[in-house]
Amino acid sequence: MPAVKSRGWVGVDFAEWSSAAQRPPTSEVPHRLLEELLLIWTTSLLRYHRQYVADNARVRDPGPGSTDPYRRASIYRMSHPPVGDQPSSTTVFPARAIHTLDPTVPSGSAIAVKDGRFLALGKTDELADVYGGTVDHSLADKVLLPGFVEAHSHKDTGGIWQFTYVGFEARRGPNGRLWRGCTTFDAVVDRLREADRLLDDPDEPLLAWGLDPIFWPGERFDRRQLDAVSTTRRIFVAHSNMHLATVNSALLEQEGIDPDTVAEGVPKDGSGWPTGELREFPAMALAGQTFRSFFGRTQSDESVLMFGQAARNVGVTTVADLGTSNLLDEAVVRQWIGIADETFPMRAAMFHGALMSAPDGDEACAAAMFDLKQRSTDRVRFGNVKLLMDGSIQGGTARLRWPGYLHGGPNGIWLIAPEQAAERIGPYHRAGLLVHTHANGDQAVDALLDAFDQVQTANPLPDHRHTIQHCQMTTPGQYRRMKALGMCANVFSNHIWFWGDQHRSITVGPDRAARMNAARTALDIGVPLSMHSDSPVTPLGPLHVAWAAVNRQTPKGEIVGENERITVTEAMHAVTMGAAWQLRMDDVIGSITPQKFADCTVLEADPFEVDPAELRDIPVWGTMSGGVLHEGSPQTDT
Ligand SMILES: [Zn+2]
Repeated sequence: MPAVKSRGWVGVDFAEWSSAAQRPPTSEVPHRLLEELLLIWTTSLLRYHRQYVADNARVRDPGPGSTDPYRRASIYRMSHPPVGDQPSSTTVFPARAIHTLDPTVPSGSAIAVKDGRFLALGKTDELADVYGGTVDHSLADKVLLPGFVEAHSHKDTGGIWQFTYVGFEARRGPNGRLWRGCTTFDAVVDRLREADRLLDDPDEPLLAWGLDPIFWPGERFDRRQLDAVSTTRRIFVAHSNMHLATVNSALLEQEGIDPDTVAEGVPKDGSGWPTGELREFPAMALAGQTFRSFFGRTQSDESVLMFGQAARNVGVTTVADLGTSNLLDEAVVRQWIGIADETFPMRAAMFHGALMSAPDGDEACAAAMFDLKQRSTDRVRFGNVKLLMDGSIQGGTARLRWPGYLHGGPNGIWLIAPEQAAERIGPYHRAGLLVHTHANGDQAVDALLDAFDQVQTANPLPDHRHTIQHCQMTTPGQYRRMKALGMCANVFSNHIWFWGDQHRSITVGPDRAARMNAARTALDIGVPLSMHSDSPVTPLGPLHVAWAAVNRQTPKGEIVGENERITVTEAMHAVTMGAAWQLRMDDVIGSITPQKFADCTVLEADPFEVDPAELRDIPVWGTMSGGVLHEGSPQTDT
């Protein structure tokens, strides 16, 4: 029992009483009585003390049961440097151009930075005269924008590169290395064979990612191709959408997945054997230790550091880790708080993955997340929750309205049953937490809107900023409901490039493909908009995301839905202020505005001057994070 030194409400010295209770008795019977009495006293006093502390805490922090949303929202505010403390030095950074994304003062030629914040915008001489300090010319030929904000990515963005990449498109890892794409089945098998040869331990599973069978219509990549790589080593290949995986026969055997296995997401071939494809997380989890190993290894410190590198390389200064971390695990919380210090190149908004990790129910999980929110720092933000309604369109697991999939496949998989959605979301909403929910298909959006309608009607919370993630097939009618419910949209613009041709020809057909990721409609209706990469599903990189939304072009050169294109200015807003708003961080990031964190994207060319068709080709020098410069990794092609 801790010795609590207090002479509070009844004039009793806790420490004396509690230590007296532990003294050995000099005479058995009376002392045993005394001991019991003391125990009762100290226990009740400590209970009273705890209650007193809790009540006082509630004055400052209304708690999940409170009906006062404004006070809850105030907990989101971040610290500011103390006014009047020891002055630290000011640094003035001249630049070729500065676009602030702040309409009051949209541009300037230099910024002054102090204590990790923007102090002022203006001209170099003027800033140096007024604020003193030193002038740093290292960005003099660069173009500065507010740091890009990626409001839907996953921490695996860094750590996944320890596994073998077998994706269709060429991709660059966080260290700058270029991985060539595997454009044929044979190329996938060859790369896996090479990786198999490099593994000494026969019990070590071969883990790979990026597989995309949709690029080979008519053929299905299944366990047989993987058996050609190894019949003894377990092989687990995550698809690029991360909602499916293909495994080999050795893994199926070791985990007892066989003709007797009856589970959603485990398709079987003509012989009655599972094909090796595992669709959605419950099915993938049947891969047991190998599945845990795949997602577990991306949690190392090294992986988090690589995530930071990946962000810096593409000009991102704040990421959302959307539901890939179990924040009920204290070790994960401490890891992020520990790593994300002022030398780390990015801030993170951490979203707890409540779909898989709410072991004691959603009420308990919401209470834990509410408590965790108070531990937010300037660099790591807690108090956010991610849920998922359905799967992936290209994987055939998203839930579509009539007429369903063009390829005639069955409708997708519900990850939350529509009738349970309001029940699952309710506790997080009532606790004032930010709820971002994955919904790709239009039927999934219907179910989600019904659920939010219910929770908002039962517990109206102004300014909740609940966001639908992906919104790939969201209709104008659904956007109008989102507007009425005060919801935000984070659309998956990169899909138009990465799967646009396949959406036209295989998944939904040309008409619905032209209406996908309808950023123009969302903006016109007045739904707050951001756009994302869902990295590692597509590469982290807001310039590419913006390019996709501005041009809506596919690899075959088609323009898909020209009337849904948005302007460069709107796209730049979406990946800075738009994303900051959805993360409830718009008061501290998202624009170059005095007092905000000094976070910048540092570019070699001006996105407002280049041909919009070349937006994605602008070289990124790196970032400034909290006033500290971080240059990107040198790019290598081997
Ligand atoms: Zn995602």
